Amino acid sequence: MQDKNHRTISYLRLSVTDRCNLRCMYCMPESGVQFIPHRDILTYEEMLHLVALTAQRGIRKVRVTGGEPLVRKGFIGFLEKLCRIDRLEEVSLTTNGVLLKQYAADIRKCGICRINVSMDSLRPDRFQRITGKDCYQQVWEGIEEAERVGFDPIKINVVAIKGVNDDEILDFAHLAMQKPYHIRFIELMPIGDGNGWRPERFMSTDEIYARLDAIGTLTPVKSNPYDGPAQRLKIDGGLGEIGLIGALSHHFCAVCNRLRLTAEGNLRGCLFSDQETDLKMPLREGRGDDAVLRLIEETIENKAKDHGLLTQGPRKCMRRMYSIGG
Ligand code: SAM
Repeated sequence: MQDKNHRTISYLRLSVTDRCNLRCMYCMPESGVQFIPHRDILTYEEMLHLVALTAQRGIRKVRVTGGEPLVRKGFIGFLEKLCRIDRLEEVSLTTNGVLLKQYAADIRKCGICRINVSMDSLRPDRFQRITGKDCYQQVWEGIEEAERVGFDPIKINVVAIKGVNDDEILDFAHLAMQKPYHIRFIELMPIGDGNGWRPERFMSTDEIYARLDAIGTLTPVKSNPYDGPAQRLKIDGGLGEIGLIGALSHHFCAVCNRLRLTAEGNLRGCLFSDQETDLKMPLREGRGDDAVLRLIEETIENKAKDHGLLTQGPRKCMRRMYSIGG
């Protein structure tokens, strides 16, 4: 289905929980987090039903996210069913990797082959400072297990933060030389009130690119339909790749094909817009699939033209990434 700006909407990011076992400094406060009450979180059956409806309106690719998806009870059983929904061509997963060693083989068996693991530092002490938890080794073992059970590609998401981990750009690039991993540098985004976003912490993908110069020749890689907005680069002689995701500095709103469904059943057209459509209430009130389909269509039609951050400055939307679904 197309929106008013002639974009074909085919990609859904599905948050299965707002709970997380890490407390990344730019995402979730260490304490005082107001989680969505359990009764307000969609059941897995409700999620499967809503995803099937979005698939009727053109969704072909689903990325499961959170919070941390692997902390939700019964997640693997849900994933199995999700992967069997008619018309879906791809299901992928984003995780912080803490529980990945335990679940990698089961996730792979569901038919998922593409996985993103978030890891902002290769130094255990710094990893702990950024995430609030001493889990570096667990995440690393999770990545190794994902490689062992055959995930391809394994993408490692790194949020680049000036003064925090920007001195590790080349370390990550070396990792992409030695291992078949896709290291994706992501710009720090001003999402959620009080997430610590400040201009002096922001590092643009152009700055990251300039730092990568020291590693050798970078050759652009032709992207495929599943790549999304990353600018892909191959380092001469490397096994892996680099990806640059400039959501702020080189925004990709003109080709954005995404919708997001939050854990409590709100459909969002744009990560940075607080406009949401409640799908849970009509579903629970039994208003029927046609009514819910109409709401999905309206959300697609009214998807914001762009996130407006470049023209209106870095305004913040109210919700943080963990509660929207990153
Ligand atoms: N727990 C999973 C994980 O860690 O990948 C999925 C959810 S997490 C919210 C998804 C991604 O959003 C992570 O890569 C995280 O680093 C990123 N993220 C959260 N807040 C962000 C922000 N303000 N700017 C950029 N990326 C952010």
